[in-house]
Amino acid sequence: MGEPKLVLRARRVLLEDAEGHLRIEPAIIELRGLRIHAVHTDEATLLRAKPTHDFGDRLIAPAFVDAHTHLALSFLRGADAGEAASGRMVEDLFYRMETRLRPEDVRAFTRMGAYESLLSGVGLVYDHYYHAEAVAEALEEVGLSAVVAPTLQDLSGPGLGQLEAQLDATRSIASSKRLRQRGIFAAVGPHASDTVSAALWQRASELARELEIPLHAHIAQSPQEWSAVVEREGVPPLALLQRLGVLDEAPSSLLAHGLYATRAELESIPRDRVSFAFCPHSQLVFGFPAPVMRWAEMGLSFVVATDCGASNDSLSLQKELRFVAGARSTGISATTEYGTYFEGGAFADPSPVAEARRRAMASVKEQWSTEAVLRRGLSSPGSLHPGFAVGRIEPKALANLIVLDVDHPSLWPGRDLIRALVYSDIAPALHAMFVAGRLIGTPGHFHESVLMSEAYQGSKQEADARLYELLGR
Ligand SMILES: [Zn+2]
Repeated sequence: MGEPKLVLRARRVLLEDAEGHLRIEPAIIELRGLRIHAVHTDEATLLRAKPTHDFGDRLIAPAFVDAHTHLALSFLRGADAGEAASGRMVEDLFYRMETRLRPEDVRAFTRMGAYESLLSGVGLVYDHYYHAEAVAEALEEVGLSAVVAPTLQDLSGPGLGQLEAQLDATRSIASSKRLRQRGIFAAVGPHASDTVSAALWQRASELARELEIPLHAHIAQSPQEWSAVVEREGVPPLALLQRLGVLDEAPSSLLAHGLYATRAELESIPRDRVSFAFCPHSQLVFGFPAPVMRWAEMGLSFVVATDCGASNDSLSLQKELRFVAGARSTGISATTEYGTYFEGGAFADPSPVAEARRRAMASVKEQWSTEAVLRRGLSSPGSLHPGFAVGRIEPKALANLIVLDVDHPSLWPGRDLIRALVYSDIAPALHAMFVAGRLIGTPGHFHESVLMSEAYQGSKQEADARLYELLGR
């Protein structure tokens, strides 16, 4: 008996041409198991095929990829912003609450984050959290695909007592055939340079090599982290990883934030195997947007992520893309040219400001095209994980697809749908979705069918009850 086979047809499918450029054309997509089996664009097959799902004029595109998140942390959404301003929100508020979490809480809260992700068109997340077996269970229940990194800590943080259990969880998630068939994979997740010892960093990178999976960590996130590492090891965070050979050992590394890393440090990393996760809206609250202009000029790879519901406060990866697309102009008002103009009296000359803007917009221009920005939200570079491909409609890639109603007012008149995937709000126009080859909800009633399902209703009830109980614990 073969694996279940779905055949989708639409007059608009986001594909790549021979030169690797995105294009939209009619196609038939065959799904088998969790992957895309074949894509046909020839007229004969388009006419002859008997689709199980005919989406007519609608657009089929790859679902979005959230490259760094902690889905369970939605339970702290709306926590006191005053604590965020103190710069110690992670240590003071998050750690205090997270220490009290039980696996059942993590499972219940992760399900809520997973539902939010799906409902915004995200098909795969790189999650990093404590009690990761519970994270994997929640993802399997909801049907969101993921790369799960069990959080490893041995110096400080809420995960201190879980180290060996989370190392075991990394192995068991990585080797689980059941999870793999649902599109759930593993990464090795040392938490950050101030909470993880040199010995554990080494152990983590060796494990990544042994299991052939990525390393996923926070790095150089705050001045506190920087000072703690310099005091302990005599070098700053990224230089420490280099000294330990961590980034050379792991098959690939995904490093979140990287705000406190200098050009000299960045120049010494193996850039073909390291990607940074840029979390625009979270960083606006927690610190400041990462210097992606400088990274792009240096040729560093970066992907886009939400970080978490507690810091962002949205898990819509697509909403991050508009910020990425506009990132080049965000520094203009902080330039000396602008300062001089602003203080220059009523008739100050604005032309140096215009020149500064022109320079910013001209820098590594190809990296900020609509197409380049969209790729950062879908897959770039590849999937970071040697075990699968995602973010492209091509044979063997994970079958993570969104179907958009192009007549919806949020996309109308639908003239440039590649641009719409970056700049418009696509979530209201979601008609259907497939994750790891499975249909989510009912086509045409996507949001309602998910929200009205018994599975969601039960998840919401349990999350409410557990949050209430946790706050009183
Ligand atoms: Zn994070």
